[in-house]
Amino acid sequence: NLSLSGKVAIVTGGSRGIGAAIVKQLAQHGADVVLTYVNAAEKADAIISEIEAMGRRGLAIKADSANPKEVVGVVESAIDAFGKLDILINNAGIFPYGPLEDVRLEEVDRTLAIHVRAVFVAAQAAARHMSSGGRIISIGSCLAERVPSPGLSLYAMSKSALIGLTKGLARDLGERGITANLVHPGPTDTDMNPANSPGADEERRHTVLGHYGSSEDIAATVVHLAGEGGRYITGEAIAVDGGYGV
Ligand code: NDP
Repeated sequence: NLSLSGKVAIVTGGSRGIGAAIVKQLAQHGADVVLTYVNAAEKADAIISEIEAMGRRGLAIKADSANPKEVVGVVESAIDAFGKLDILINNAGIFPYGPLEDVRLEEVDRTLAIHVRAVFVAAQAAARHMSSGGRIISIGSCLAERVPSPGLSLYAMSKSALIGLTKGLARDLGERGITANLVHPGPTDTDMNPANSPGADEERRHTVLGHYGSSEDIAATVVHLAGEGGRYITGEAIAVDGGYGV
């Protein structure tokens, strides 16, 4: 199914986990993909080789989402390399966690820079180049709506900001036929949140399905929103969380 044939996508944090699954599924549906990473150069290159083997064009860029100049640079590089931009996936993320009294100001600033400011700046830069049919999809978290245990204030704050940002972007860009949506993953088995970690059983209990999701589960909804199926969905947050929010 090459429903995204001819589309150009950016996926931030595409070297591992959910982002890597999104890159691969976008490519399977026909898109050319630019991905970013900060450390995992070899993994990033391996993902690019995989999508090139599918016949797609790919580009891996080392770019720290905490740095707004690098965020804008990724959009410019995508335009330089592939001539256009149709789909922006804001996925790069970190997981600050721990007692409230231990959270340092630098950690607050870095988290907000990666999870919030980078999304704003990337959307602003991408919107300059997108035409009708453009898609902006951000990865939030089930913890944006519900915080069932302590130690998560900073992370929950940073992800809930995307709810307002997504609605604002939908209003700002709707006239031009560009949609903006948010996908809230639940516990998803990645390096960030391994399904065999000490806290995993508690996370499973918060879901109604009783198990972790896979990166592919999240990517499937992202790809749906990125394609024709998403044309009348905007300003929305969709949970792919096994019933975490129920
Ligand atoms: P991983 O830790 O497995 O992967 C994170 C990815 O983001 C990597 O590609 C990493 O690059 C990249 N990244 C991290 N920091 C930066 C940065 N400063 N600039 C650019 N890229 C960066 O995480 P997941 O796949 O689990 O998470 C993906 C998204 O999903 C995140 O936004 C996360 O908050 C969200 N999420 C995850 C859940 C889960 O249970 N796993 C649940 C809810 C939301 P590199 O490989 O180079 O380090």
